[in-house]
Amino acid sequence: MNSSFNLHQFIEARKAALSSGKPLDAVLLELQGGSPLDLLENLGRHFHYPIRWLEGLGKLQVDLNLMPISDCRRFSAAVVMDGNETWLLFSDPVNEELTLWAERHAIPYAQRVLVLQSSLTRLLTDLESTTNALSGVLDEGFAEKQLVDSIEEISLSRIDETSSQVIRLVNSTLYDALGAAASDIHLEATAQGLVVKYRIDGVIVHVASLSGVQFNEQVISRIKVMSELDITERRTPQDGRFKVRIRERDIDFRVSIMPSVFGEDAVIRILDKDHLSSKMAGLTLDYLGFNPEPMAVIRKLAAQPYGMLLITGPTGSGKTTTLYAAITEINDGKSKIITIEDPVEYQVAGVLQIPVNERKGLSFARGLRSILRHDPDKIMVGEIRDGETAQIAIQAALTGHLVFSTIHANNVFDVLGRFEHMGVDPYTFVSALNGIVAQRLVRVYCTVCRGSGCPECRGTGYKGRKAIGECLIMDDEMRDLIASRASIRKIKEAAKERGIQFLRESAEELLRNGLTSQAEIDRVTFARE
Ligand SMILES: [Zn+2]
Repeated sequence: MNSSFNLHQFIEARKAALSSGKPLDAVLLELQGGSPLDLLENLGRHFHYPIRWLEGLGKLQVDLNLMPISDCRRFSAAVVMDGNETWLLFSDPVNEELTLWAERHAIPYAQRVLVLQSSLTRLLTDLESTTNALSGVLDEGFAEKQLVDSIEEISLSRIDETSSQVIRLVNSTLYDALGAAASDIHLEATAQGLVVKYRIDGVIVHVASLSGVQFNEQVISRIKVMSELDITERRTPQDGRFKVRIRERDIDFRVSIMPSVFGEDAVIRILDKDHLSSKMAGLTLDYLGFNPEPMAVIRKLAAQPYGMLLITGPTGSGKTTTLYAAITEINDGKSKIITIEDPVEYQVAGVLQIPVNERKGLSFARGLRSILRHDPDKIMVGEIRDGETAQIAIQAALTGHLVFSTIHANNVFDVLGRFEHMGVDPYTFVSALNGIVAQRLVRVYCTVCRGSGCPECRGTGYKGRKAIGECLIMDDEMRDLIASRASIRKIKEAAKERGIQFLRESAEELLRNGLTSQAEIDRVTFARE
């Protein structure tokens, strides 16, 4: 088949395929010749759908909860998971019945991806043979789970059964946000209705605008009911949480409701601990995508017998994840590791993790004091944000403990000022300090569209992030400079002599290598002074 697509031939072939029961691609190939891959590319181009060549894509997980096998057969389609993505695979680009089905069954945001019918049939046949073998085992496990678990379960079949449009909307949004690997769901009331946004890879992405003012009140009420909040209270902020079971996992959601001009806004933070813990189990510094140099520095600093390692950066720069990675790497069972965190974000096996509880009087400072009486070797303090915590952390480092912590600052040099501002004597500070790493997460181009935007990246052009780091390592001379309150300019020069790579330089390197855009590096790092 040549590159200009012949619509007339397509329609004839589709008729023939439907009446004969042969796969559409087989009929088209018979008629027009060419290779199956050429055909798929032409179909995708003509009907404006992203395509997938299924052969060799072994890791696709067909989700039969979302689309039962009978419907897969009926529409010659399937819903599959690839990592965090949900795709609706389909082989007939003009099947209106399928479009209706997808709308009814609440997979509003699944990416539609065109595939060849014969490839899809092979995928389903393979699946059926393995599913049948397993079905007995699965049913048993399921029955047991039902008995012990009273948490509300959200599955697509249940979303469909629910008669209330609002409950269906809330449930399908939770379901979809999880599939999109969003960290937060933002529901914003507007003059026209409700806007749904997700935070994905640290950036807000617009998902849907629902017109109808009744929506925002009803949706917010539904979320309040789920979080056991006061439905009648609409003028003051409220915080709550709820838990639901989605895709065989219990997921916690933390809710913040805020009054606004047009009603109330809600932000729902997704706390998917199971998922994070399993991700964290294999979490190492390599996983974060650091360049070799900062990674080697963090490893070296984390392997010291005592002293303090600080990670700095703004909110959402991945500081805590880096600390978890470092702790996971040194967690060999030979030393006692204790953490105090607000909140405990990931559970690390073999590590005693204490959540801060300000209401019950357990602050970072108080928790840290108690930890020191608990015979630790290595301590992680989630964040240093007051002078008291800073002082105790430094004392701990000076008395033979390895202390990890994060602090909110723009770069490694700002950290020095932050500690001084908290009333810490610079001499004591540098005596305890092994090094400071400032980090950022830079979004990198989607590997499918290379930045132009496609369904894979929800039109943003970016998919995934890479960590960049700026490391200030202490040596005697550097300690002297800081303790004697040398100017930041002098300290920077000394750091330069030691080969420090500034954040902006690392960001520019990503740009030069074609991995990200100027706008993205400007978003995460300041232009160099
Ligand atoms: Zn893309």
